[in-house]
Amino acid sequence: MAPEQSDLLTDTTFATLGVAEPLLRALDARKFHVPTPIQADSIPPLLAGRDLLGIAQTGSGKTAAFSLPLLQHLAAQHVRPAPFAPRALILAPTRELALQIDETVRFLSVHLRLRTAVIIGGASRFKQVETMRRGADIVIGTPGRVCDLMQTRELNLAGVRHFVLDEADRMLDLGFIKDIRRIVSALPMPRQNCLFSATMPAEVATLAQGLLHSPVRVEIARKEETAPKIEQFVHHVPQAAKTGLLLSLLDDADLSRVIVFTRTKHGANKLATVLEQKGIQVNAIHGNKSQPQREKALREFRTGRARVLVATDIAARGIDVTGISHVVNFDLPAEPESYVHRIGRTARAGAAGVAIAFCDPTERGTLRQIERMAKAPITVVGDAPPPEARSAPAKPKRPGQGQRKRFSPRSRNGGDRGSLRTAA
Ligand code: AMP
Repeated sequence: MAPEQSDLLTDTTFATLGVAEPLLRALDARKFHVPTPIQADSIPPLLAGRDLLGIAQTGSGKTAAFSLPLLQHLAAQHVRPAPFAPRALILAPTRELALQIDETVRFLSVHLRLRTAVIIGGASRFKQVETMRRGADIVIGTPGRVCDLMQTRELNLAGVRHFVLDEADRMLDLGFIKDIRRIVSALPMPRQNCLFSATMPAEVATLAQGLLHSPVRVEIARKEETAPKIEQFVHHVPQAAKTGLLLSLLDDADLSRVIVFTRTKHGANKLATVLEQKGIQVNAIHGNKSQPQREKALREFRTGRARVLVATDIAARGIDVTGISHVVNFDLPAEPESYVHRIGRTARAGAAGVAIAFCDPTERGTLRQIERMAKAPITVVGDAPPPEARSAPAKPKRPGQGQRKRFSPRSRNGGDRGSLRTAA
């Protein structure tokens, strides 16, 4: 789904930003008529050869923001790709994100003679090496497999003139810092660098400082754009009753494309099996699934063949599926940051969405941390916390707790929500 009109700059066009004709045609074919703010701010300095620090998340249009100038630079150089030696390297934290970037780069470069190679784990290494042997202008990869091919000299970074590090914060979360350092140290100078990150913790700032030279900083506010469009609910429910609650919620057809987060791979499999037995089209996606299984699960979810995707955090990172109506936190994440990341799967690119959390009495401490972090009201629905939860340092019961509610975007029952809030 395209970003909302209010997120677009109506008096700016891609042409006025300096984007060249073959790319304009590709943009037109995809109905990208108006640049998003991150595109409007990033494209001119990147075309001018500057380094860039972009603070923006998936959904902002950042992929085209860095890809358009990159493609324009490469096309202007008129050189044939040499075996094993790309001229541009784009690193992403997950296989899925790498594939999505590849998809964007391919459609944008449809009128250019440029070749891309996707170098990711879980896919045929042999085929990737063959692609490199034939020569690719752009490598889009995940750090592990990129390092692997560097080591065997099947990927030579000495010709890289453009480097993009996408979702730097997730890279560090996933423990890729050593691989990134190895890759960066193999890159030649001079080169153009871009670093994108949704958040800017100290480690990312340090990484950016070492990598970027006098960068232009472009920041797209995150919470203001997305948080108000996500309605957040919490349902106090004992662990053992969570599956039953989910099944009853799924009776509502408004839950049309639902991603359900569990804490463990085993939990994801178990839940998917139960849902399947109840006739719900569902797939599970987690670290033990092979790359083809993950891709199939995502494809079926994207096309609507599967209504529910049960996922663990790591597997879900970088998934960009539009039209997710509901995110269910079947288990609360240990890290409040993950909650924000999880619920960001819905309300993509300006659409509205609903996030529902299931909170067992043992998870109430985590819920309080999440409430502080989310900076948005999380409405209590369903039954009041069971008595054992009250021995924990619980909040006073609010009027209206214990009512059962439906979960639809802009729900019909929205009128009395103020009295149900647990946090503001
Ligand atoms: P990204 O943040 O790069 O993952 O992009 C988010 C979504 O917005 C993707 O589905 C893109 O296809 C879409 N998109 C990006 N730029 C534009 C644009 N200028 N106009 C319409 N849709 C866009």
